[in-house]
Order: sequence, then C-alpha cells, then structure tokens
Amino acid sequence: MNFDCVLFDGDGVLYIEGKVQKYAPEIIDLLKQQGKKYALVTNNSTKTKRQYHQRLINMGIPMNLDRIFTSAYVASDFLKGETVYVIGEEGLFDACHSKGFVVVNETGEKADNVIIGMDRTFNYNKIAEAMRHILNGSFFIGTNPDRNFPSKEGLIPGAGSMIAAVEAAAERTANIIVGKPFPYLYKSALQHLGAEAKKTLMVGDRLETDILGAINMGMESCLVQTGIGSRYSQNEIDKFRHTHGGPDYVFPTLFEFYQFLKENS
Ligand SMILES: [Mg+2]
Repeated sequence: MNFDCVLFDGDGVLYIEGKVQKYAPEIIDLLKQQGKKYALVTNNSTKTKRQYHQRLINMGIPMNLDRIFTSAYVASDFLKGETVYVIGEEGLFDACHSKGFVVVNETGEKADNVIIGMDRTFNYNKIAEAMRHILNGSFFIGTNPDRNFPSKEGLIPGAGSMIAAVEAAAERTANIIVGKPFPYLYKSALQHLGAEAKKTLMVGDRLETDILGAINMGMESCLVQTGIGSRYSQNEIDKFRHTHGGPDYVFPTLFEFYQFLKENS
C-alpha cells in the first residue's frame, strides 16, 4: 500500500446528518502532518462550497474551498453555450452562476442546458419546463444518480428521482450524469489535487457509489461501516468484493481507519 492522497465521502463518513464523526478531525490533522493530500468528494449538490467550508470548520475539520468537490460544481463544468435551466437548490444555482452562465428559470428564454440536482421543491411545472427545453435541444445534465438516500425520516428521494421524472416526460435520457459511481467527480478531484488514481485511497460508506466508482478509477478503496455502511451484512460485503474486487479495506468505524493511517505513515 502506497498512497499519497485520500478522498473522503461526506455524509456517513466525515459526518452523519450534520454531526461530525468521532476521529474525523484527528484523521485530517494526521494526513496534514503526514504531508498527504486529501479532499471531500460528495454527490450532494444542494449546498455551496462556502457552506461546506463553513460547516466543516464548525466541525473542527478545516478544508480549503479547493479541496471541496461536489456534484453540482463538477456538473457545471459540462455546461455548454451560455444559458441554463436549473432544477436544484442553492449549491447548483451557485455552481452555474460561478461559471458565468445565465439562469433562465425566471425569463423562460431558450436554455442551452438543463441541469438537474436534488430539489426539495420539485413539482409539475419544473418537469414541464425542463421537458420543453430538452425537446427544444438543450444539453441535459444530471448531478448524481442517487434515487434515494437515508435521513432521520427514513429513505427520501434524491436527485436521481428528479432526473428520472424528467427523462420519462421528455422520453430522453440525460446526456451525462456526473456523481459517483461515474468517474467525473473523482477525475476532477485528482486533476485539481495533482494526484494519481493508483496512489489514491477513497474512503466511503456506500458500496455501489463510493467504492464502485473508486474501483472503476483504479483507486484503492476503504469501506467504513458507519452511515449506510452500517447496513451491509458481512455476506453482502463479501459478495461485492467477489464481483468487483474491492473494497481493499473495511473498518467498523473511523477509529480503526485512524489507527491504520498511523501504522502506515
Ligand atoms: Mg455517504
């Protein structure tokens, strides 16, 4: 094992439902001391980079803006032309504005792109507008494929459900979906950090997104059994390993990962 870069999923790994996980700050401190690169790589498109930055500081995990990779900002790298119709929340609007795109949600102008992420005010009119633009030739981008994810209230719909609704209405599949397990988020992080896939370890709590994406990229992967990771049986993990050849490491909590990092510095 020989890595100089560690990528972290956010929810379920560094924090759970907005609360910092034990040993997350210590792990980041240790990586700093060891001179290793690190970053947050999240499928969540709802928050701005600044909001993440502030949130992480409040948790005792200082992380510069340029180490925060969300599906919203990486998705906005794929925008074409000048205008965009957005279904999403603050993070996605900010990503589109930060790249200089004109958001046409209010004006109804022709949209060169339709971009869709998680939107907790999703409704019929938004489906209708997105569909109209797509049928008029807009490039169609989805932030991440997660159809649902766990919350305090149980499973709730994710961006993948909103993308699927528009795909059904327009009878068109999205041109690109950016988040894990697809490679774009990881590629963007590695490129900006100047890191190599084969010298990078990805730490995640979800086999079919975090870990599968890492395996497909040729990175080492580490499953922590917190967040969604706590739901997998040993049998499910074994089966996944047999089929996909990873994760390389499985740890019950971040404490064991911290110990592992100390022993392998
Ligand atoms: Mg997670």
